[in-house]
Amino acid sequence: MSISIWEKETVLAPQDVLIIGAGVMGLWTALELKQLQPNLRILVLDRGAIPTGASYRNAGFACFGSPTELWSDAATMGEDAMLHIVEQRIKGIEKIRKHFTDQEIDFDACGGYECFTEADATLADRIAALNTTMQSVTGNTNTFRIANEQLKQLGLSNFNALVSSTWEGGIHSGKYLQALHKRAIVAGIQVVHGAALLHWQESNDQVVAETSLGYIKTKQLLLCTNGFLQELVPDSNTVPARGQVLLTTPIEGLALHGTFHFDEGFYYWRNLGNRILLGGARNVNKAAEQTTALHTTPEIQSALEAFLHKHIGAQYSYSIEQRWSGIMGFTKDKRPQFTQHSARVRSAIACNGMGVALSPMMAETVATVVLQNS
Ligand SMILES: Cc1cc2nc3c(=O)[nH]c(=O)nc-3n(C[C@H](O)[C@H](O)[C@H](O)COP(=O)(O)OP(=O)(O)OC[C@H]3O[C@@H](n4cnc5c(N)ncnc54)[C@H](O)[C@@H]3O)c2cc1C
Repeated sequence: MSISIWEKETVLAPQDVLIIGAGVMGLWTALELKQLQPNLRILVLDRGAIPTGASYRNAGFACFGSPTELWSDAATMGEDAMLHIVEQRIKGIEKIRKHFTDQEIDFDACGGYECFTEADATLADRIAALNTTMQSVTGNTNTFRIANEQLKQLGLSNFNALVSSTWEGGIHSGKYLQALHKRAIVAGIQVVHGAALLHWQESNDQVVAETSLGYIKTKQLLLCTNGFLQELVPDSNTVPARGQVLLTTPIEGLALHGTFHFDEGFYYWRNLGNRILLGGARNVNKAAEQTTALHTTPEIQSALEAFLHKHIGAQYSYSIEQRWSGIMGFTKDKRPQFTQHSARVRSAIACNGMGVALSPMMAETVATVVLQNS
């Protein structure tokens, strides 16, 4: 396709930083870069007409971690690393609320919960120990509280225990992405949807990116492609993980209010007004869900429906209004990953299914390093 002079001098003009991926990671990083250096020329490209990965397809939990997930993270990455990530997520939630009004992104400071099915006589002691550990980052002696008395009033069934925290909230992920996109445009960042990065070539002083729009020269190339990184960097150790979700029809008298977790986050649900949004069940067939294919499957959806009926919706009448999936990026040790692939090419990805709260803070680190090297 031929290129007009107007395209050549705007969208296809040489850039200081070319960011691939207009999800939360790409947009927050672009904003941080602009804040650090307002004169930078930054272009964010996304191959989807709507960015099509995780950011527009998630569950909208602004969360910092539930007890079983934090125990599992501490076992995988060590307690200090777990605490550092929790701290970053807490700061991330604060940062989101500083930048956007609650009305703009439908932030609901509803609090978060984790449900347990097995009777565990040691739970109270383990929560007390976790609270002691968490105090250094939350500054609070009671980050988590045993709240079994709320199981019934929240309309939950077949659970034995409930742990609550006041720190979590829910957001409207679509409104959040649109608000971020608007900020980026106002800051003078170009954001172009429907354009894919295909390949690149690097020389001493620049990278020439081949995109579906044409060639774009840039001083720095940053890949914020999350679960799709392996398509561009085959030896990346980030793997895709599909997350599936369902949403019920409105339910009269729904008592559920909050963000809920079960089994290290393998099931998560919340109320969306008077509907129930439920996601997860990836552990039913982890191998099949390690994919970038964006469809739902009867196997996972049936597991979600069975869970919904048994634990959340038993007393209500509803049907399933909507089903969807999104693609996450996972690393082996569940730590976020900021990798230098060559002098001018880096990737910043893998918020491991928790990018809403983590990406605003990770973007600060990424932007600082990219600028130091440009
Ligand atoms: C079902 C589901 C539920 C989730 N629930 C939560 C939750 O409640 N709370 C939470 O914190 N996190 C949640 N997450 C995770 C969270 O959404 C992600 O951590 C976060 O959105 C990652 O943002 P990102 O910008 O790194 O990636 P993405 O949003 O995936 O963006 C990557 C972008 O790269 C683009 N791209 C890929 N390849 C190319 C290419 N070659 N050229 C151009 N563009 C390309 C894609 O189109 C995509 O838009 C969930 C994820 C899923 C899937």
